[in-house]
Amino acid sequence: MSEAVDVLVIGGGISGATAARFLRPQWVLLEREPVLGGLSTQYRSGAFWFDYGGHYFHFQGANPMQRHLSEKTPFRRYARRSRVHILERLVPFPIQSHLESLPASLRRRIEREMAHPQPPEDPSMAAALRAEFGPTLYQLFFLPFLTKYYARDPRELITGMTKGSIPPPARRSGSARQKKAAQGYNPEFFYPVGELRRFWEAYAQPLLPQVRLDEPVEAIDLMDRRLETSKRSYRFRFLINTMPLPHLLSMLSGFAFPSSLPRRLRYTSTQVTNLVLARRYRRFHWVYLPQRDVPYYRMGYYPGSGTCRIYLEQSIARNGAPQDIAQSGVTGLLRGLGVIHDATEILHVSRRTIPIAYVQFDRFWARTVPGILRGLAEQGIFSIGRYGGWNYSSMAEDALTARNTALTINRQTA
Ligand SMILES: Cc1cc2nc3c(=O)[nH]c(=O)nc-3n(C[C@H](O)[C@H](O)[C@H](O)COP(=O)(O)OP(=O)(O)OC[C@H]3O[C@@H](n4cnc5c(N)ncnc54)[C@H](O)[C@@H]3O)c2cc1C
Repeated sequence: MSEAVDVLVIGGGISGATAARFLRPQWVLLEREPVLGGLSTQYRSGAFWFDYGGHYFHFQGANPMQRHLSEKTPFRRYARRSRVHILERLVPFPIQSHLESLPASLRRRIEREMAHPQPPEDPSMAAALRAEFGPTLYQLFFLPFLTKYYARDPRELITGMTKGSIPPPARRSGSARQKKAAQGYNPEFFYPVGELRRFWEAYAQPLLPQVRLDEPVEAIDLMDRRLETSKRSYRFRFLINTMPLPHLLSMLSGFAFPSSLPRRLRYTSTQVTNLVLARRYRRFHWVYLPQRDVPYYRMGYYPGSGTCRIYLEQSIARNGAPQDIAQSGVTGLLRGLGVIHDATEILHVSRRTIPIAYVQFDRFWARTVPGILRGLAEQGIFSIGRYGGWNYSSMAEDALTARNTALTINRQTA
């Protein structure tokens, strides 16, 4: 016997939970894990709680979700303090707006090149950045950083994935200091008081009666409008999916797409190394690490009171494995960045791999993903969120899309 439900929501991360909070018709949320929160909650290791790498809310552009998300849990606002570690110095982020921190001759060369942007030679991300920022800054920072971050040659990627995260510097003069500080997609960010797990306790509370935990979805038949989990069978009218799009496609029957498609949607995995320190580090929220000989692309600390917890993030290419970094390597890096004096200050280490962390925007993505999402939506399957929508989005953007999806379904069922 199947259970009949108007709307089935797959996944209880920020996208699935927010959609459920706004849905009016009868719904059930299916979550594979024993807890809600997906990537934006915390996990426990020993006596400590950690995020899955730096996870801050970005509410820029008057995102209407700020009020909704912080209704039950207050959020604290932080003004970004971040740096790029390059040429053995810490240059304020974004580097293209702080060239005065580079050696004078290098600065002058980059400024000359940036004053005369060239049309890109091809539609790749590499060509767009080279054209906008000039060959010198591209070779110095963007190429090594992005190659490490995406674990792929930026010449194979298209521009969509950088969105507003690599802003061109303000070319006009006037209140320059203020403008610089405010550049990028994250000049300020928000983090819940009591940390992410407290936010989730409050946010998920009204949903719990309709949530089924430990219940992974295994198969979906679109013709029959039937879905199978590890535990039972459901019939549905609408589906909101937030698990990764390739996983959805590989479970789906009754929807035509090339069989090679799930395999050809590329992504990067991330290994997060979380550490607890005996000393307090609060200098920069995060530091970008473009150096080729350092395996990590970013180091930062988690806000919140109590113990000092920091993270290091490393990208893993498809079919690859994380570089095994000896503890001495981590200690050396953290000493070099002024985070610790010696290894005895590291009290605890915990490593977690996020199997699908960053979607890669390449030409294949552009040719296939938007059309597949449209085709699914026409059949009442809304695949949303950073992974369901196979996109590069933030938690605040995912929450907004989820709310809008729920409102669309509410209208169609009114
Ligand atoms: C290293 C890293 C750092 C990041 N930092 C930030 C940041 O600072 N700020 C920010 O805004 N965003 C950040 N993000 C992005 C943020 O994590 C995502 O935008 C957000 O978590 C996506 O939420 P979601 O609900 O769409 O997906 P998820 O959180 O992935 O939720 C999907 C849910 O689906 C469940 N699921 C999967 N398969 C099944 C199945 N078969 N059956 C049932 N359930 C299933 C999963 O268990 C999960 O709970 C970061 C991401 C990474 C990887």
